[in-house]
Amino acid sequence: MEYVPGIPILKPSIDADNKPFWDAVANHELVLQKCRACDVYHQPPRPMCPECKSMDTLEWVQSSGRGQIYSYVNFTTDRMAYPAMKVPYAVVLIELDEGVRLVSNMIDIEPDEIEIGMPVEVVFDDISEDLTLYKFKKRAA
Ligand SMILES: [Zn+2]
Repeated sequence: MEYVPGIPILKPSIDADNKPFWDAVANHELVLQKCRACDVYHQPPRPMCPECKSMDTLEWVQSSGRGQIYSYVNFTTDRMAYPAMKVPYAVVLIELDEGVRLVSNMIDIEPDEIEIGMPVEVVFDDISEDLTLYKFKKRAA
């Protein structure tokens, strides 16, 4: 996927809950919030475990960065596409091996080659000095 020069890219909205996630992405690491008490991963990050309601058992752990495409949508015309992104491009919903899902984009693949269930792994795209995004690429099964 390619960006259209001169049009700002939407940046993540960073708050107290997701700052550790985006700090890790800036360092080319993918981390997930996990509850020590009930051993469940959560995404998006939040201040309280949605399973056991604990507020002091959440920790950040390294993700495998591996998963598969759970769903996707291909943007093939400018009508509904984000103006900063050149069509065609795909927005993918990735289900990580840890069981949580992330919205992202794919690299090194044409949108019409994307399939549900395709195994993927995370990569990091340094867009600018102050913006790094996580993306995914196809991997061998
Ligand atoms: Zn919990």
